Amino acid sequence: MAFEGLSDKLNAVFKRLKARGKLKESDIKEVMREVRLALLEADVNYKVTKDFVAAVSERAVGSEVLESLTPAQQVIKIVKDEMTALMGSENVRVRFSNRLPTILMMCGLQGSGKTTHCAKLAKYFKSQGKRPLLVACDVYRPAAIKQLQVVGEQVGVPVFEMGQGDPVEIARRAIMRAKDHGDDLVILDTAGRLHVDEQLMEELTRIKETVGPHEILLVVDAMTGQDAVNVAKAFDERLDISGVILTKLDGDTRGGAALSVRAVTGKPIKFVGVGERLDQLEAFYPDRMASRILGMGDVLTLVEKAQDAVDEKKAEALAQKMRKNAFTLTDLLDQMKQIQGMGPLGQVLGMIPGVKVNDEDAQRGEKEMKKMEAIIFSMTPAERDKPSIIDPKRKRRIAAGSGTRVEDVNRILRQFEQMQKMMKTLNSKKGRGMFGRGAL
Ligand code: GDP
Repeated sequence: MAFEGLSDKLNAVFKRLKARGKLKESDIKEVMREVRLALLEADVNYKVTKDFVAAVSERAVGSEVLESLTPAQQVIKIVKDEMTALMGSENVRVRFSNRLPTILMMCGLQGSGKTTHCAKLAKYFKSQGKRPLLVACDVYRPAAIKQLQVVGEQVGVPVFEMGQGDPVEIARRAIMRAKDHGDDLVILDTAGRLHVDEQLMEELTRIKETVGPHEILLVVDAMTGQDAVNVAKAFDERLDISGVILTKLDGDTRGGAALSVRAVTGKPIKFVGVGERLDQLEAFYPDRMASRILGMGDVLTLVEKAQDAVDEKKAEALAQKMRKNAFTLTDLLDQMKQIQGMGPLGQVLGMIPGVKVNDEDAQRGEKEMKKMEAIIFSMTPAERDKPSIIDPKRKRRIAAGSGTRVEDVNRILRQFEQMQKMMKTLNSKKGRGMFGRGAL
């Protein structure tokens, strides 16, 4: 899970700090030593760590912290502010050009997730009303063109390719085609290599000089820690990139790249990749990320994910049903689908402040949801609407049909009964308004 190691360590440090009450200057020094260690272990760049600790210490030993009634809270707030500043206080989005099309040049080493993220961005901007065109400029590996076509098809975005031709010429032609077809966003998938090499840099420079992209986004793999930061530095020196896409954050327990890349290169992280699925892309907000690292959750991203996943009309219909105590197992199934649409359970729950889910629990939860889904799918519509008709014979049939046991079916039915009871109570006098308009 993203940042798990670093979050755990920082939280342990802060917990001890909170237990201490009033703080002395020496307490803060000690705490900052531990924070420094936690950051270095998370593979944060050495100089970045040093500057960070110095900045926090300077503010934390001030009289308003030491004399405040809640000094630990003040220190934690300073850590959060400085961590946000480290990742860039302002949110930097992709700039769209007035002259169409806007050209995004994607670059990065092989395996960083470049092709996947071309498609993720195409999907992301398509959902915002843009008309993207994906362009296969990685001409050295025939598989790369095919891969772009496959992901392009998955997100419903056309792919321009000319086989193994000259990437500069392909980019130029693609832009002409975009103008002809009214595509307003061109995403160039350029070649990658295993390491930064001169030939690659020359090719990328030629593409840059010929097509004049509005954005050059570098894709780096968060799991490679400081290597990712060094790669970013090398690409930036040659290409003057406009931003970074940090991928595979879902598997990065340390967080070193996320915390150092902006400070080292001066270039903002614009997006993060949080999974292999093509909808697992998030716009990057430094303050939200700091919040997540410090275990304070990220309610804003959670709300945005919910807005994307939840169908408003369905939600209103559901609220109506809950008000009338007419919530059925089919509705429950619908709800589960919407929750699943928000992403892996562990990621979603992890955004709620104070909730910590380890990978094992998250996987168990997902398995449980799948089981529940299979059981409800094995029921007839009549059974879903009126579970009271499910007798032992039907239970055996449902269990066999869903590959589960009768005990599992019983458990789901019991849970559903409890939910119904709870809704009845909430709808009674005491809880009136709980499912009122706008409550869900
Ligand atoms: P490229 O060589 O840079 O074009 O990399 P690919 O797009 O082919 O991605 C390499 C591998 O990383 C593929 O298996 C992707 O599914 C995987 N991948 C890409 N982005 C992410 C991400 O955000 N999270 C995870 N877990 N895997 C990713």
